[in-house]
Amino acid sequence: MELRLYNTLTKEKEVFAPLDSARGVRMYVCGPTVYDFAHIGNARPVIVFDVLYRLLRQLYGKDKVKYVRNITDVDDKINARAAQEYPDLPLNEAIRLVTEKTEQQFHEDVDALGCLRPDVEPRATEHIAEMRDLIDRLVKAGFAYVEQDHVLFEVGKMNDYGRLARRSLDEMEAGARVEVAPYKRNPMDFVLWKPSKPNEPGWPSPAGITVLGRPGWHIECSAMSWKHLGETFDIHGGGIDLVFPHHENEIAQSRCAFHAPIMAKTWMHNGFLQVEGEKMSKSLGNFITIRQLLSDWKGYAWPGEALRFNMLRTHYRQPIDWTFQSLDDSHKTLWSWYELVQEVAPAAKVPSEILDAISDDLNTSLVITELHGLFRSRRLSELRSSLYLLGFSGKKENLHRIARAQVNLTTSGHLASQTAIVGGFANTGPSEIDKLVEQRNAARARKDWKESDRIRDELKAMGVVIKDNKDGTTTWEVAR
Ligand code: AMP
Ligand code: ZN
Repeated sequence: MELRLYNTLTKEKEVFAPLDSARGVRMYVCGPTVYDFAHIGNARPVIVFDVLYRLLRQLYGKDKVKYVRNITDVDDKINARAAQEYPDLPLNEAIRLVTEKTEQQFHEDVDALGCLRPDVEPRATEHIAEMRDLIDRLVKAGFAYVEQDHVLFEVGKMNDYGRLARRSLDEMEAGARVEVAPYKRNPMDFVLWKPSKPNEPGWPSPAGITVLGRPGWHIECSAMSWKHLGETFDIHGGGIDLVFPHHENEIAQSRCAFHAPIMAKTWMHNGFLQVEGEKMSKSLGNFITIRQLLSDWKGYAWPGEALRFNMLRTHYRQPIDWTFQSLDDSHKTLWSWYELVQEVAPAAKVPSEILDAISDDLNTSLVITELHGLFRSRRLSELRSSLYLLGFSGKKENLHRIARAQVNLTTSGHLASQTAIVGGFANTGPSEIDKLVEQRNAARARKDWKESDRIRDELKAMGVVIKDNKDGTTTWEVAR
């Protein structure tokens, strides 16, 4: 049996073999920018590459696979969020609070989805030295230039820039906006390093620049993958939206810095997720976080394994439409299987039809068809070992879906009746919520931001959103 993976770089399904079998398989996946709860679209690459990670460990052995997924903890969105959430704190401290808290939330969420932690989770801010090193190399080799305290990558210096996205430089330039930043020689040149504004986080700059600065987004992944996987490695993944410009630019940086013909051998991209037939967006009101699904979405707190199963019903390269109906079906299917498999010991081996399907470019939708077949023919111990390979526990205790009673909202948006959470959780009524709000106000009064955040997040997990009003009062409402 051979593993075949679709490679965005060649647009072909290829037989996979590690570049260096002694070193094992090295895989890098672009991770979250930590400023807010991860949404269900962000969960897709985490789940898809977790399945690949589990398969690679099965095929090559656990100590022969190294999976790196970064945490982007320096970014304009983080700065904006920090300033908005903690206007009274120095920005650096506010940023630390936002990134630490968001990273922890992210871990809790993806743990609940049954995803293994990667072997290394590097943070961008801990790799600034490697970024400076890469940038110095690029300037020295003539691929990058310094202008107005910025360092720019000069795309015209790389003869096959655009190969991953299959766009020529001429096409890209024609499509570029007319307004070009004054420090750019060419509209497509991209930022490797930029000066920090006086109140922003800043580090000593590369390339002889004397003011403090901060990295561009793309250089972060080139630096972290280099540090933890080497100049060239096996698999690089992420969502399809990252092909251009993020991955194209990572390739440009790494290949030009190391004079290497490739950065990663196989480039894999998951398709996009939409919700009930529409692009997910805050303004359409269909934006769902993982946390919301786990605590209260359309009347239920959904078990992580049902979310995971629902994600895997669609092949990872296809777009996926996230609907209540398919999630409900997924939950029912798993429940019917778990009822029978939980008493059965897993088979020592995963049946070949399952391994074949998953090794064919992670064809999880075919895998699920095969799982239905195992269930129908009551090959239960094989069903259990197959579920286990895909990251499912097979235990009914992990599959309880908790119904939440309807919450009646008054016209003002305040809670009128009890938020009764049926089963599992204790009833949580307004008095309980008011108590938490009071505790949070007390924490804020003594400037204990950690505690006040913790309480706010606890409330958020209960579906209660806190509002700090300009007049100093705090109100809350149930998020729907
Ligand atoms: P971001 O935090 O936006 O950089 O996204 C983190 C990861 O989630 C990236 O790999 C994105 O490609 C992926 N992603 C973001 N939105 C979606 C979506 N709606 N569907 C599938 N993947 C997504
Ligand atoms: Zn990246």
